Amino acid sequence: MRFTRLRLNGFKSFVDPTDLIITDGLTGVVGPNGCGKSNLLEALRWVMGENRPTAMRGGGMEDVIFAGAASRPARNFAEVTLALDNADRTAPAAFNDSDGLDVVRRITRDAGSAYRLNGKEVRARDVQMLFADASTGAHSPALVRQGQISELINAKPQNRRRILEEAAGISGLYQRRHEAELKLNGAEVNLARVDDVIEQLA
Ligand code: ATP
Repeated sequence: MRFTRLRLNGFKSFVDPTDLIITDGLTGVVGPNGCGKSNLLEALRWVMGENRPTAMRGGGMEDVIFAGAASRPARNFAEVTLALDNADRTAPAAFNDSDGLDVVRRITRDAGSAYRLNGKEVRARDVQMLFADASTGAHSPALVRQGQISELINAKPQNRRRILEEAAGISGLYQRRHEAELKLNGAEVNLARVDDVIEQLA
């Protein structure tokens, strides 16, 4: 799956609907200081399921909504759409019948975030898993923010290993293992309860 278009609407400084066409090959974003280059990268992370306000350089998630300017009032919602090419049919089965996939995340003041995949409401986890399986996502080392290269050079070997794991395409497996472990723990607690009940009945 390849990113083909990013649309921002009310996201940070992008108050008006703005489309960015992402073509094959390397994409560079250039512009003067403060024009919104980092906001674009943050929009990509956000639509892929980023939930840490600090990763969005904000105090709370609603800080991604356009906060107003001298000539423009604040907006009540922010929406980011990421269009993916699905010609290779690697999307999850439920969404694999079309050549394209539109992932939409919308946040409304006091109402939180909602996600849609090709118009159908889905959970944050579904979107995060979609990108993890495609070896990308909000935490992907493929999205390089300012200062990150020097951080990588000085990183501990464990942190560098994460990049190799991402390249090997096993990030989704880690998330599934974590969820399986949580379920296993839950089952063990239930089993212990059953043992208690049996003991009381005996
Ligand atoms: P630099 O090259 O200096 O790193 P940049 O091009 O990466 O800059 P960004 O950091 O992406 O620029 O954008 C900063 C701009 O976005 C600032 O003008 C800031 O006021 C604006 N901005 C950030 N959040 C919001 C928001 N919620 N509402 C309105 N404007 C916002």
